[in-house]
Amino acid sequence: MSVVVTGATGQLGRLVVQHLRAGGLPADELVAAARRPEGLADVRTATIDYDDPLSLETAFAGAEMVLLISGTEVGTRVAQHGRVIDAARAAGVRRVVYTSAPHADTTSLVLAPDHRATEELLKASGLAWTILRNNWYTENYVGAVEQARSTGVLLTSTGDGRVASASRDDFAAGAAAVLLGGDHDGRVYELSGDVAWSFDQLAEAASAVLGVPVVAKQVSSDEHRAILVDAGLDEGTAGFVATLDADIRRGDLADATPDLRTLIGRPTTPLVDGLRTALA
Ligand code: NDP
Repeated sequence: MSVVVTGATGQLGRLVVQHLRAGGLPADELVAAARRPEGLADVRTATIDYDDPLSLETAFAGAEMVLLISGTEVGTRVAQHGRVIDAARAAGVRRVVYTSAPHADTTSLVLAPDHRATEELLKASGLAWTILRNNWYTENYVGAVEQARSTGVLLTSTGDGRVASASRDDFAAGAAAVLLGGDHDGRVYELSGDVAWSFDQLAEAASAVLGVPVVAKQVSSDEHRAILVDAGLDEGTAGFVATLDADIRRGDLADATPDLRTLIGRPTTPLVDGLRTALA
């Protein structure tokens, strides 16, 4: 069995590679593929670019499985993912595993359309597939928590919305589990933390980790956008942050499922522990 992990220089991809090795996949059966894989040690590496079909087909030759870690270039990544899927088929890969977004087929989450389109390409590809719909990384809130160290405030327009986050390492362990064994063909996993937390709970966790009082300050979407622009963010980024918070307010990230803890065989990392590790 040989497995190619794309995005292997990224934060998630590095952890997946570690979990595959720890799970017993021999180094010569693991290909860590990235645009600049030079720094990756103890595994075979391949240089790929989602925009370069030949690089993909060459990297995938002889592989049984490819983990396609979704790209970062919103707007062009559906075409990029399509190239990865086409190259996998051309190279004779049996199964592609894809990192998607929660309820990508039905949600109104602003980031979901690229994932929905990729899932559709994968399902129409003729390849075997597994879809890992990853909820938010706990690490997404490290910046906000760091900021709260001096302000004592977590600014948010999420209202009563909740986030079923897990640590990046939990999601990586889940991806490794579906690559290492078991029957996961044609399965869609809604991967999340065990607990969907509120922003008051995020503030409590931030307080515990930082050792200073922190409160969540709720504002409207319009106020949120304006405050972020006043603080120096460009309009586009400020609007994006406020839109994500509105998605959370609507409940788009609130679904805590047992899928991830079942795959990894243990509870997911609690919010406070995930933040503590990320801030260390
Ligand atoms: P990173 O930004 O750390 O890693 C992204 C990886 O994708 C990098 O290895 C990057 O390579 C690679 N990549 C990007 N574009 C290309 C390309 N054109 N060709 C080849 N490789 C490319 O993200 P994470 O590891 O933290 O997250 C993985 C993915 O999950 C993200 O790409 C994004 O789609 C999604 N995500 C999910 C979040 C969540 O909370 N669930 C939050 C943030 C992102 P290079 O180093 O060369 O740029």
